[in-house]
Amino acid sequence: MKKADIGLIGLAVMGENLVMNMESRGFTVAVYNRSTEKVDNFVNGRGKGKHIIGCKSIGELVENLERPRKIMLMIRAGEAVDHMIAQLVPVLEEGDIIIDGGNSYFKDTIRRTRELTEKGLCYIGTGVSGGEEGALHGPCLMPGGNPQAWEAVKPIFMAISAKVDGDVPCCEWIGDDGAGHFVKMVHNGIEYGDMQLICEAYQLMRDGLGMTPDEMHEVFAKWNETELDSYLMEITRDILGFRDEKGEAVVDQILDTAGQKGTGKWTSESALEEGIPLTLISEAVSARCVAARKEERMEASAAYGRKCGKIIEDKKTFVEQIRKALYAAKIISYAQGYSLMKTAAEHYGWKLNYGDIALIWRGGCIIRSVFLGKIKEAYDKNPELQNLILDPYFKEAIESSLESWRKVVAAGAINGIPLPAMSAALFWFDSYTCENLPANLLQAQRDYFGAHCYERIDSPRGQMFHTNWTGHSGSTAAGSYNV
Ligand code: NAP
Repeated sequence: MKKADIGLIGLAVMGENLVMNMESRGFTVAVYNRSTEKVDNFVNGRGKGKHIIGCKSIGELVENLERPRKIMLMIRAGEAVDHMIAQLVPVLEEGDIIIDGGNSYFKDTIRRTRELTEKGLCYIGTGVSGGEEGALHGPCLMPGGNPQAWEAVKPIFMAISAKVDGDVPCCEWIGDDGAGHFVKMVHNGIEYGDMQLICEAYQLMRDGLGMTPDEMHEVFAKWNETELDSYLMEITRDILGFRDEKGEAVVDQILDTAGQKGTGKWTSESALEEGIPLTLISEAVSARCVAARKEERMEASAAYGRKCGKIIEDKKTFVEQIRKALYAAKIISYAQGYSLMKTAAEHYGWKLNYGDIALIWRGGCIIRSVFLGKIKEAYDKNPELQNLILDPYFKEAIESSLESWRKVVAAGAINGIPLPAMSAALFWFDSYTCENLPANLLQAQRDYFGAHCYERIDSPRGQMFHTNWTGHSGSTAAGSYNV
């Protein structure tokens, strides 16, 4: 019997669908799952009559694979991946490749790549985005790890990935060790930001303008024909139009308490580590944390007798202003996310291609949108672009939305409608484009209480000064360094 082109471990929702996708593109796939009844269920169910080899042990899986063996893990991220690798290492041979397609933390992927390289094995940590549908019909794939493993894996990944513009695969080698999982993490952070912005627009319309789900369904349908054209706009339109058997809008029946699996938090943590302001995504993570505390919020709301005010602007005009605010804030979210990738790439020695990253996110994944085409154009034109908002297209887009964006954030503040992401984006923009921030006073405070020194406006950068502010402190200054 023909050996399999690839093995896959983990027959949950993502694994099963990826196997079906691979098989449909002409690859033979050997499968294994820790709970082996799932192997039986799969090969006798969805996988019946297909080029799929069910295996009841890791040994059997390994025996059924062409060399170099390629084994993809689609299992729960974290310790489970280390356990599985520990079982695979003794039965694999030099040059064999382990691929981790789960949402693993990129620092784990850096470590695993190093450990497996030392053992003569290859490792790929790949981001897989697009959920169940994407896995089956074409996900966005973000592989990184040992570059020498890529040639063997590339034909399979290119074949199964989503395609844009006819036949352009949403898959590209991202970079060494943890680069693929890092970029997937930032993708997930951006996803948090995009979703939060849409939710803020929804709350402005629902509570500020008193609009019904049907009216908002129409608005999102129209917005999806503008620069905001994206998968998340599409599903929001459909969710708002969805009714249950009693004819009621399902969105109104859902409790407002959000969940999260941690990738947004990782993105924020990594931004803090790199010293990059990622305010919009961080606010989106916090917004889910606040939402999760439903009982506490109910108590606080009652204690303050809180009610949102009504926005008295002309509805049609204000809805258009919300659209512009959403668009401008979304640009800021991507600008911040790209700054994080740029800084991390320098830190970890990755050569990221920012235009390619925008391109592969254009299809298959949750943040897919027309807008990403413009980001690709911006980085293709200038791969060294300091910040996305300095690209002429995005500069013009922000300038033409700025007045509306300010009005919307102000209306939220006046009427008590929380807009943490839209406002954080606006205040980041105002800070980033402000020549004179109040940090002169801040440096004076630091020097006053801690002799941390300051630079002067009339002296070269790097020359440090200390003032004896109280007249009775000494002239010794603290060492100058940044953490
Ligand atoms: P999941 O619920 O995250 O994981 C279930 C799978 O992991 C099962 O096959 C399970 O085996 C296996 N597993 C758990 N602990 C294990 C251990 N200690 N040893 C061996 N196997 C173990 O499944 P999923 O939603 O399909 O996701 C798979 C991976 O893809 C995860 O890392 C997830 O974060 C990532 N991902 C998910 C999505 C999505 O939309 N769901 C999208 C992109 C990426 P048993 O059957 O034996 O329990």
